[in-house]
Amino acid sequence: MKGISILEGKYAMSMDMYPLQDKSFNRIHPFYDNLKEGRFTTTKCKDCGTRSFPPRVLCPECLSEEMEWVDLPMEGTVLCVSEQLAGVPLGFTPPLIMAHVDLDGELSYLGRVQNCQAGELKAGDRVKVVAIPIESIPAEGKKGAIIEMERVFYVFEKI
Ligand SMILES: [Zn+2]
Repeated sequence: MKGISILEGKYAMSMDMYPLQDKSFNRIHPFYDNLKEGRFTTTKCKDCGTRSFPPRVLCPECLSEEMEWVDLPMEGTVLCVSEQLAGVPLGFTPPLIMAHVDLDGELSYLGRVQNCQAGELKAGDRVKVVAIPIESIPAEGKKGAIIEMERVFYVFEKI
């Protein structure tokens, strides 16, 4: 059976850190659908207005299930940078650059920066959110059918 190439024959498939993104497996699948269309989105509670990130199916403030999808800024400013030059997790190659980014006052979070060398990124630099393809993994669908789903994830890139 086809799997994640770096894990085949070495580790259990459960080592895969990315979620199954198909609607059969994931209730926040619109987040990934939007990401494939170039939109960075999250959920907002229709009852109390609380916006969460990552997206939720249930409001963490009032427990309402009435959530709507809202767009987030696609660009932000680096607050601080972390560079890991060796001993990076399986599936990554050094340097592993992480940045805490302020998405223009809407949200701040820590994310990976791609196409960036050590020492290249500093606080105050501008970055954008980009969607990258993630290797698909097989999953068991209806009636035992094995399905492969296209997957994406989000990273930062220096502008
Ligand atoms: Zn709420």
